[in-house]
Amino acid sequence: MPKGKQKGCAGCNRKIKDRYLLKALDKYWHEDCLKCACCDCRLGEVGSTLYTKANLILCRRDYLRLFGTTGNCAACSKLIPAFEMVMRARDNVYHLDCFACQLCNQRFCVGDKFFLKNNMILCQMDYEEGQLNGSFETQVQ
Ligand SMILES: [Zn+2]
Ligand SMILES: [Zn+2]
Ligand SMILES: [Zn+2]
Ligand SMILES: [Zn+2]
Repeated sequence: MPKGKQKGCAGCNRKIKDRYLLKALDKYWHEDCLKCACCDCRLGEVGSTLYTKANLILCRRDYLRLFGTTGNCAACSKLIPAFEMVMRARDNVYHLDCFACQLCNQRFCVGDKFFLKNNMILCQMDYEEGQLNGSFETQVQ
């Protein structure tokens, strides 16, 4: 390494002696400066994995907590990333786009009533129709 070209730490902006230099995200860091933005744990240690998102440096645990997946959409069964807006109904989560009556595909607006029957989202009309002809009851059995 050429002399006089010391690297500055991306965390504290001070110079780094080569011996303590860590390279992450194309920047250089002191061992103590490379730490999780949430819990302050050091990420320079051997074996620790570092995650970045939205200019934050995070440890695996905090990354998963903040940006991991919410679960699977109950309608399309695909994963929903945690930072994505979701609709919830009882224990189910749905993509915003998937949250619609599963019989007639009507989308719900704020204040609209929706129903969960046999794990399907239904609009009021389809729900009441199902109640009338008893089709839900036969499915339950
Ligand atoms: Zn530093
Ligand atoms: Zn952390
Ligand atoms: Zn979905
Ligand atoms: Zn419907």
